Parts: sequence; structure tokens; C-alpha cells
Amino acid sequence: MSDIVNHSVKKGPVRKRRELSLDDYVEGVLSGDRTMLGRAISLVESTSARHRKMAQEMLLKLLPYSCKAHRVGITGVPGVGKSTTIEALGCNLCEAGHKVAILTVDPTSSISGGSILGDKTRMSNLSIQQSAFIRPSPSSCTLGGVTKMTRETMLVCEAAGFDVVLVETVGVGQSETQVSDMVDFFLVLMLPGAGDELQGIKKGVLELADMIAVNKCDGNNDSRAKMAAREYRNALHIMKPQSLNWTPPVVCISGLSNMNLVELWEKVDEHRCALEATGELQERRTAQQFRWMWAMVEDRLINSLKSNQNVIAQMNDIQNSITDGALTATVGAQRILDAFGLTETL
Ligand code: GDP
Repeated sequence: MSDIVNHSVKKGPVRKRRELSLDDYVEGVLSGDRTMLGRAISLVESTSARHRKMAQEMLLKLLPYSCKAHRVGITGVPGVGKSTTIEALGCNLCEAGHKVAILTVDPTSSISGGSILGDKTRMSNLSIQQSAFIRPSPSSCTLGGVTKMTRETMLVCEAAGFDVVLVETVGVGQSETQVSDMVDFFLVLMLPGAGDELQGIKKGVLELADMIAVNKCDGNNDSRAKMAAREYRNALHIMKPQSLNWTPPVVCISGLSNMNLVELWEKVDEHRCALEATGELQERRTAQQFRWMWAMVEDRLINSLKSNQNVIAQMNDIQNSITDGALTATVGAQRILDAFGLTETL
């Protein structure tokens, strides 16, 4: 006798969710309704062509109500204390009357389907706050896809009344550059250590930083943290500043004991005031929009070229000729563009 057990359970009729109209989405988001905000973000994250079109229409309608929030990116290696710090900072901000959205850009979710940022039970105190909204990265998506969705999710959250958006990422691949290019202020968290702090870190990330916070400055770490802070100050000192209106400070904090986080946020506010007063904030946002627009154009063009049947038919021959030394890379590129229908000479 078969010992396979029939696990099928009789289910009641599956209730399909009502399809929402464009106006439902727009009004729902603007009213600050949590469920509608979640559904609007799902629309932004959808890969269906129909949903994508509707998402763009929705974003256009929401645009006049967004772009007012304070956008802050936070990065650091796994274990540096990002979630602990964001939780404490987020709770402080909610207490001070802000509405805080936390979004994540997790490049590891695209590689493994799992994620460094999403898997942990994170920010349990913040997640129960009425004024906080936490949205993890969509999984199984390329980094380009995740960043596009995060940018658009940010606009939806802003239209729903969130005046602070914290975007968290880990220091993997291009994710730091991508996040720094969608926020007004980029905060880099570092660990205290002795002597060799600067060795293991990517110099590039210091160039992106609007502030460095040495975390875990509690317990026995105090003197090591101060030494690390001094080294980062020296390192920043010899770098060309990103802005003439701002010198990136280095602060010592403890996310775990909520130490110096109020002072940290005061610096973020100071930065905003300094850049707003000179018009640099608006310039920075506009330049980000332009870079993003052109990046999408390039992306779409490349996709359309690589899926072009003519190009696909000739690609192998062209690559083989380059391997055999019968063709230079420039002529190879010309042939690919010819196959795509672009005739200008390189
Ligand atoms: P993430 O991977 O960067 O998000 O790091 P987590 O916030 O998950 O923190 C990693 C570990 O460091 C956890 O065990 C935290 O309790 C601990 N931690 C985080 N911030 C601090 C801090 O300010 N001081 C100390 N002593 N430990 C901390």
C-alpha cells in the first residue's frame, strides 16, 4: 500500500484582489494609506508590461507631491551596525515627529535570491512605529533593476508623506555608487580598529562620503574609535572635496547605545541647509536625474542591440574572427553596429 499521504487541503474560493485603477493608486498613496502604499510599490516592482506602464503613469501623477524628503544613503560592510544604527536613528526621528521610510538596495539578493540585508529579523522596534515604513529590496532582480525600483519607490514614499528616506546598502560591487547617486547625503559607517583602518577599505567609498561615522564607540572601543576617526579625518583631508560648500565630518557613534545619533542627524540637517542655501541641492538632484535618464537610455539601447536578430546571427562569426586575429575589435564593433542598422563609421 502506498504510504504517500494526500496533503491536499480543501480550500475555500480564492478571493482575487480587486484591480485598482490609476486614480485608486494615486489617491491611496496621497492619503498615506499603508496598504495602498504597499500595493503601489508592488506595482512599481512588477515586471508585467501593463503594470509597468501604469506605474509610470502613477509616478507622473505623484511627482508634484514627492521630491521634498530628506534622502540619506547609509552604507558599510556587513556587521558594521547598519541595521542597529538605522533602527535607533529611525526611532529618534519618529519621536521627533518625522515620517521615516527605510529602503534597501541589496546587490546580494540578485546573485543568490537570498540577501544580506533582508534575511535577518531586522529593526523590530522601528517596524512597529506608526511613522516608519520598511521595505526590503525586491529579490531575484539585477542590481540595475533593484536601483530603478528603489528610486521609484522613494518617490512613492515621499508622495505618501514620508519626509525622511533612508536607503541602506552593503559595500558590494557598484551598489554604493548607485545609492550615493540617488540620495542627498551619503553616510559611510566604519568600524573602530587600530592603525590599519585604511588598509582594507575601498578608497572609492571615502570619495562618495558626505560623512563618516565610526560605529561601536562604546565599551572598550573608545580610544581605538578616536584613533580611527583621526585617520579618516586625515584621509578625507587629502581628498578633493565633492562640494565646495561642505567638508565631510567624521563622528564617533554607537548605534547600540544610541550615542551621538542626535548630533549625527544635526550634521545631516546642516549639510542640507548649506546645500539648499547655495542651490547645490537642486543642482545635485537634477544632475542625478540626467545621469539616471542616460543610464536607462544606454541600458535599453544595449538590450535592444543584443536581442536584435541580425546582430545575434552575426555575433559568433565576428567574435571568432577576432579570436583568429582576422579582425580588429574596432572593425568588429563596426560590423555589429552595421548589423543593428547604424551606419556611421566609428
Ligand atoms: P549590519 O550587518 O551592518 O546591519 O550590522 P548589525 O546592525 O546587524 O550589527 C552587527 C552586530 O554588531 C550585532 O551583533 C550588533 O548588536 C552589533 N552592534 C551594532 N552596533 C553596535 C554598537 O554601536 N556597539 C556595539 N558594541 N555593537 C554593535
